[in-house]
Amino acid sequence: MSKVIKSLRGFNDVLPQDTYQFNSVLRTLEQILAQYCINEIKVPYLESTALFARGVGEATDIVEKEMFSFTTNDQESVSLRPEGTAGTMRACIEHGLSYNQEQRLYYFGPMFRYERPQKGRYRQFHQLGVEILGIRNPALDAEVLLMCAEFWQALGLSEYVTLEINTIGTSEARANYGKALVAYLEAYKDQLDADSQRRLTSNPLRILDSKDANTQAVLANAPVLADFLDQESKDYFEQLKAILTANGQEFVVNPKLVRGLDYYNDTVFEWTTTRLGAQATVCAGGRYDRLVEILGGHATPGFGFGLGYERLLLLIEEVQGKQETPSADVFIINEGDVASYSLKVALQLRQAGFKVLNNLAGGKLKKQFTKADKSGAPLALIINPELSAANQVNVKRLATGEQETVDLANLVASLKA
Ligand code: ATP
Ligand code: MG
Repeated sequence: MSKVIKSLRGFNDVLPQDTYQFNSVLRTLEQILAQYCINEIKVPYLESTALFARGVGEATDIVEKEMFSFTTNDQESVSLRPEGTAGTMRACIEHGLSYNQEQRLYYFGPMFRYERPQKGRYRQFHQLGVEILGIRNPALDAEVLLMCAEFWQALGLSEYVTLEINTIGTSEARANYGKALVAYLEAYKDQLDADSQRRLTSNPLRILDSKDANTQAVLANAPVLADFLDQESKDYFEQLKAILTANGQEFVVNPKLVRGLDYYNDTVFEWTTTRLGAQATVCAGGRYDRLVEILGGHATPGFGFGLGYERLLLLIEEVQGKQETPSADVFIINEGDVASYSLKVALQLRQAGFKVLNNLAGGKLKKQFTKADKSGAPLALIINPELSAANQVNVKRLATGEQETVDLANLVASLKA
């Protein structure tokens, strides 16, 4: 036997016993998205590396070290998409969907990041993302957050997730704050972790995110972003909080929440859970009023989020267990050479809406009944050459063992009764 070739590290198969859950959760989310008149956009998995460098930010973890990038045969640098926002904005600009218009969009599909694989963190994972363009209004931010709350409600997760929000103001406010933060931290440089030392020059706000205890101790007395915000940003955040409260949505203000991406302004948020260990954030996003402009389009405000689909599925499984694939309604037992008749019977039932597992492999009757029991179907149809000649089938209720002979012409009506 030749050597087995295995999948790449961090690249997972979704096996047949898991796809039912995978798809049914997505259907639930898509139904809610439709009620919010948010329509799907599909964009490529591969884009120019420059798109992500500009759209996600050179100094972000994603662009610095997490992209799958390569050079094509004609010397173009391309990357597998690490996230969906940049590609979505590129498509909107390219097709004239953002200029002077409102767009309510979502995407779903795989994203790729070169990270150390662990539970809830993979190299290929799925995100469902929402991007709303053309509206700058705290009520819109609230609408999207309330829609997320409906996701959790529909999936039975409301009690397991917490909404954390913050405002990071304008890029000017952040630049001023960044200077003050760096001025303060320089004096304690030796006490910071290596990543944070590097970020002093590249992306100082990310230091707030550091998991290092010494760094966090130094940060305890650092200047805070809230003191650098302008009045408009403060008012915007107050309005958002008031609308959420008026709509019964609980939240926690987390002043350290800055998010990893460069392009956010004002509102940022995360939905977190305590049930998934270190991979606590299920859904995260914020406002990005400058991104379209950064990517070469006309200034267009935006608000959106990315939802980590595997983490969502893990959370559902953690608190509710796994949803099994529904079994067949009818299992057909082929006794003898009756394949063409059983195909005809199966077709009739399938066209009437039944899920039919036709045991074309045949075999010993006893073994076929064992298979029928294992299939979970409540009904077995038995077909043999005599029944076929008479255009009949035997219907057996597997729970009770009750059995009757039915004319093919009456079969659908009889099964529906
Ligand atoms: P983290 O801090 O966990 O690395 P992030 O800030 O990099 O998250 P985003 O880029 O905002 O995450 O992506 C949105 C969501 O996608 C995350 O909140 C998470 O649920 C999910 N996600 C991000 N990276 C991965 C990954 N490598 N594997 C699985 N899910 C991921
Ligand atoms: Mg990350």
